[in-house]
Amino acid sequence: MNGDVMIKTIDAKEKEMIGFLERLVNIDSGADNPAGIAEVARIVGEKLAQMNFEVEYIEHPGICTHVKAKKRGTGDQEIMIIGHVDTLFGKGTVAERPFTIKDGKAFGPGVLDMKGGVTVALFALQALYEAGWNDKNVTVFLAGDEETNHPKTNAAELFEQEAKGKTAVFNMETASAGQAVLVGRKGNMHPEFVVTGVAAHAGADLTKGANAIVELAYKIIDINNLMDHARGLTFNAGVISGGVVANAVPDRASVKVDVRYLTLADRDKAIASLKEIAAKNYVPGTTTEIANFRENMTPMEVTPGNKWLYEIVRQQGEKLGIKVEAKVGGGSSDSGWTVRAGAPSLCSMGARGEFNHSAREYIFLESLTERAKLLALSIHAI
Ligand SMILES: [Zn+2]
Repeated sequence: MNGDVMIKTIDAKEKEMIGFLERLVNIDSGADNPAGIAEVARIVGEKLAQMNFEVEYIEHPGICTHVKAKKRGTGDQEIMIIGHVDTLFGKGTVAERPFTIKDGKAFGPGVLDMKGGVTVALFALQALYEAGWNDKNVTVFLAGDEETNHPKTNAAELFEQEAKGKTAVFNMETASAGQAVLVGRKGNMHPEFVVTGVAAHAGADLTKGANAIVELAYKIIDINNLMDHARGLTFNAGVISGGVVANAVPDRASVKVDVRYLTLADRDKAIASLKEIAAKNYVPGTTTEIANFRENMTPMEVTPGNKWLYEIVRQQGEKLGIKVEAKVGGGSSDSGWTVRAGAPSLCSMGARGEFNHSAREYIFLESLTERAKLLALSIHAI
C-alpha cells in the first residue's frame, strides 16, 4: 500500500467527512430515543457495507441498537475498532442546536462524544481499502448505550468477547484538545452505605434511640480517609440522605459513594476497606449494609500491550508532524473491557476537541482528517 496515496485520499475526502458527521450529529440519539440510535447505527452500517463488511445489527427493542461489522483480510492479524453511536443528549437537542461550523470548529450534540470519532474511523478504513490495503481482519463494534454504561444490554460482555485474541483495539472515543491518546483509564462503581438505627423522640426518649445519621457521619470521614491520590484511588461521598424531622432520632441514613481506581487489584482493595468500615460501629444499636458493588465501568489497566500500541501510533504521528502523547484518564470507557480480554488497546483515538457532555462541546474540524490519517497509518503499521 502506498501511504502517500492514502493520505491524499483522506485530504480529498475532508468535505465528505464533514457532511457525514453533520448527518450523524443531526439525529438525536440519546437514551430516550432508541429510534434515533438505530438510525445512526444504520447509517454507520451502510457505510461499512459499502466497504464489503458483513454488518450485523444487535437490536434491543425499546432500548438501543448496537452495530457489529466484520471484514476478512488476507493475513492473520486482527484489528478491532470500538465506540458508540448514542449521545448524552435527549430528544429535541438537535432542533435547539444543530450541527454548526464556526472558526474552524464544529458544534452540535455528540460532535465530539463521539460522532466525530466514528466518522474518523469510517473514513480511515475507506482510505485504507481504496489504497489497496486488505491484509488484516477488521472488526468494528459500536454500542448503542455507552453513555448509560450499558445497564440493560450485554454490550460490556460483547466488547470483552469480541476483543479476545485481537492484535490491537482502537477506541474512537473523544480526544482532548491536545495530541494525547489514553493508555489507561479508571474504573468506577457507586456503592451505597445504608445505616439502620433506632427511631426515638429527640426530647423524651433520646437515649433509647440509635442515631443513624451520626453513625453515617463517622463512616463518611473514614471513607474519605481511604483516598490515595498517589495511586489514583479516589472516593467521593456524592449523595446523602437520612432523617425525617429534626425532633426525632433518625433510624435511617445512606450515602452513595463514587469510587475510582486504575487496577482491578485496587478495586478489590477498596471493596475490602469499605466492608471493614461498614462492619465498624460508632453508635451502639446501629447496623450498616453496603449495596451495589457493581462496576459501572471496569478500569482500562495500563498494560505492556497498550504501551506497545501507543509506540506504533506515536511513530506514525511523527510522520505526520504530530507529537502524540500517552496519558491516563480519570473517566471510564469501554476500553476497560477490551484490556480485560487481553487485547492491546488505545483509547481517545477520535476527533480532538473540548467540553463533551455539555452544550459547549466542539471539535477542531482539522482533526477529522488528521486523526483519520493517524489511525490509517497506525493500522497499516501494526
Ligand atoms: Zn463517549
